[in-house]
Amino acid sequence: MIAFANRAAEVAAVAAQHADALDREARFPHETLRALKDARLLSILIPEEFGGESASLADVAEICSLIGQNCASSAMMYAMHNIKVSSLVSHGRDSNWHCDFMQRICEEQLLLASATTEGGIGGDLRNSICAVEIDGDNFKLGKDATVISYGAHADAILVTARRAPDAPSSDQVMAVVLKDQCKLNRTTGWDTLGMRGTCSEGFRLDAEAPAAQILPKPFAEIAAQSMLATSHLLWSAVWFGVANNALARAQNFVRAQAKGRPNVTPPGALRVAEAASMLQLMRANTLDGLRRFARAQADSDELTSVGFAVAMNNIKVGASRLAGEIINHAMLVCGILGYKNDTPFSIGRHMRDVLSAPIMISNDRIFGNMSNLLLIHRLDPHLAS
Ligand SMILES: Cc1cc2nc3c(=O)[nH]c(=O)nc-3n(C[C@H](O)[C@H](O)[C@H](O)COP(=O)(O)OP(=O)(O)OC[C@H]3O[C@@H](n4cnc5c(N)ncnc54)[C@H](O)[C@@H]3O)c2cc1C
Repeated sequence: MIAFANRAAEVAAVAAQHADALDREARFPHETLRALKDARLLSILIPEEFGGESASLADVAEICSLIGQNCASSAMMYAMHNIKVSSLVSHGRDSNWHCDFMQRICEEQLLLASATTEGGIGGDLRNSICAVEIDGDNFKLGKDATVISYGAHADAILVTARRAPDAPSSDQVMAVVLKDQCKLNRTTGWDTLGMRGTCSEGFRLDAEAPAAQILPKPFAEIAAQSMLATSHLLWSAVWFGVANNALARAQNFVRAQAKGRPNVTPPGALRVAEAASMLQLMRANTLDGLRRFARAQADSDELTSVGFAVAMNNIKVGASRLAGEIINHAMLVCGILGYKNDTPFSIGRHMRDVLSAPIMISNDRIFGNMSNLLLIHRLDPHLAS
């Protein structure tokens, strides 16, 4: 099997070719998806026993970053698909249906989407209004899913809902719904500032499916033990890729200036140096989080600890802020050639895409949750974690 990086490089090249068109037309990255399927990259996280390649989350993060350097929307699609796959890998292995489904993902290279956001709840992942209604061996579910990235193009959607119509809003489950088991009626479009290729439209989602498709673990456990960490780590990897590419453009800009006037250091070089140090912080933050997550997977006390939750939240808020600052620096370095959309130094798409980072589960909401945790959790006094 060819190394993941080589396979991802081919996908990244395809994504680069179509990135401006996706952005202009706010259309789905069909070409990148085709390339991901051809390279069989949609199933690498799935264990070998089910037909996958037992890749680590760090392998997937590297691919997200590589694709993100060329097309943020394509990279986000790949990240979100893998966040859903990781829930199946971590929490679906005790269920025959989910094991068979993992096999299908490998064989058919299925694309998974996510419906957690809900009208009236917003980005509060850990509460739902809609509820699952069990009827014999089947369940029914209707959700005002206000944002489902590439929902119209996915083969299956993982949907959160209350366990039953009389369950409290935080007693949630997550169910897999295949595309032929649900009706999606579009309620809102996706004409946005950035991330235009994710096509994250709103839908009224009505589904009926076998109850065996509901993941056996409560969603509270799925969120705490895998989804929160994998989301924050893979999103950060995407934003690292976007920031990296913007800074590379700025560096090319000052190099071109330096060539024109060999004895004068271009003024923008200082900003490039400053942004490079921020990029290093971003890399260190994300890599440390990936290592910590890998360790925690073998240590259930660590996985459920407040310290781990705080660390994973910090990765997201830190990466989303740094990415914005780095790209802002890159824009200042490139000036009008960065501001224009049709130059080798254009930064506009990067800047618009990365503006989604602080609102993709609002940083303020995350800080709000963390401020409560930090009332009880003592900060780690050690440099080595
Ligand atoms: C590119 C992109 C793709 C997405 N894809 C998906 C997807 O596939 N599936 C999906 O389910 N969702 C998706 N989302 C939705 C996303 O993950 C968030 O849930 C959503 O953006 C939150 O919407 P909101 O801003 O209305 O939310 P809210 O979280 O309701 O926040 C609204 C405002 O209230 C403030 N606020 C809320 N709570 C607090 C608090 N406790 N403390 C302080 N301030 C607070 C925030 O600052 C925010 O400005 C996507 C979002 C983006 C940007």
